[in-house]
Amino acid sequence: MVGARVVVLGRQGSGKGTQASRLSAVYGVPHVSTGDAFRAAVKAGTELGRTAQGYMDRGELVPDEVVVGVIREHLFGPEAPNGFILDGFPRTVSQAEALAEMAGTRGVDVVIDLEVGNEEVVRRISGRRVCSDCGATYNLDDNLPDEPSRCDLCGGALVQRDDDTEEAVRRRLELYESMTAPLINWYRERGSLVSLDATGTPDEVTNRIVAAINAKLGT
Ligand code: AMP
Repeated sequence: MVGARVVVLGRQGSGKGTQASRLSAVYGVPHVSTGDAFRAAVKAGTELGRTAQGYMDRGELVPDEVVVGVIREHLFGPEAPNGFILDGFPRTVSQAEALAEMAGTRGVDVVIDLEVGNEEVVRRISGRRVCSDCGATYNLDDNLPDEPSRCDLCGGALVQRDDDTEEAVRRRLELYESMTAPLINWYRERGSLVSLDATGTPDEVTNRIVAAINAKLGT
């Protein structure tokens, strides 16, 4: 098997960023988060960042053609990696169609849907803190850094994301239900979907996902 091609779906706070980064280490393929790519572009003040910022601050989706352009360049350009763990893309059926077209005959190997209830999502997001330098994620409830407000990996300052305010979170959850939840059926109909319980410790969830991916890859 040439590097796994995995899509991780799940609502905000389902742990998809944390899990995608762990899967990247397990399978030796890059973790590609469109949200992280946009936040890096905003920080660097690029044209992409200026385009994305307003949408992100309002908790809205960045237009499909912009996001698809980023994925095309990162994953299917001349320096294409040998597989990927996609986190935060696709988010609409039209993005999924674009991904299917870019991914060619092999397509995507497996789509993991991380299931978690409303109350748990709100608890996880309100406690979420991210490193302002490297983007690593912590949680005030169950995943504290060793030193208060400092990233264990790079020493950067931990901050709350601008779009983790209650209003923006509510808007993003509504958008997830209307725009992204239909993707679950889209992938189910194509036989790629595996839905998993995303509650429990991060290690428990990783073990569940790895077992599901390996079963799908036949390894
Ligand atoms: P995330 O870190 O995945 O929660 O993404 C943060 C924000 O980036 C989202 O609320 C959107 O504004 C934007 N974004 C990330 N990925 C996408 C995508 N696939 N399509 C549209 N907007 C996106």
